[in-house]
Amino acid sequence: MTDSLAPERRSWNMSRIRGKDTKPEIAVRKALHAAGYRFRLHVKELPGKPDIVLPKWKTVVFVHGCFWHSHDGCKDATIPKTKTEWWVEKLAKNKIRDTLNCEALVRAGWHILIVWECSFKQSSEFSDIERFKEIASGFIVNGSDVFEISYHNMTSSNVLCNKKAR
Ligand SMILES: [Zn+2]
Repeated sequence: MTDSLAPERRSWNMSRIRGKDTKPEIAVRKALHAAGYRFRLHVKELPGKPDIVLPKWKTVVFVHGCFWHSHDGCKDATIPKTKTEWWVEKLAKNKIRDTLNCEALVRAGWHILIVWECSFKQSSEFSDIERFKEIASGFIVNGSDVFEISYHNMTSSNVLCNKKAR
């Protein structure tokens, strides 16, 4: 994939390297809170330190940056044109780590909701918070193992866990 990010966008992405309390993450928290869910944040004891944990529902939520977590098929998941090799390796490692964390969580009986950052683009149906609440609640209550929400679609599958890093 080519590097098509504008410089401002790139620096915004880079700023998320320690990504805590990011805008999409806060949007997800607000939506879950408004839907009546109670949760804990950044639980260190669980694999991958999930952003949001709903103990009552045995559900963890990751709000993934599309760049850092190499969102498949997403145009925000670019490889920078400088230091390309370094980035390829770095992002591949992230992907492997995500997969291992995901597998460990599923083995331990957790349901995983992955919300990709691109879900909140203005033209996305999930940028409508009511719609997001509805979809997220549906998963939390009837949870499959892993559910992903993104700009492009939503998928209920174990694809992420079984996928080998590229
Ligand atoms: Zn994405």
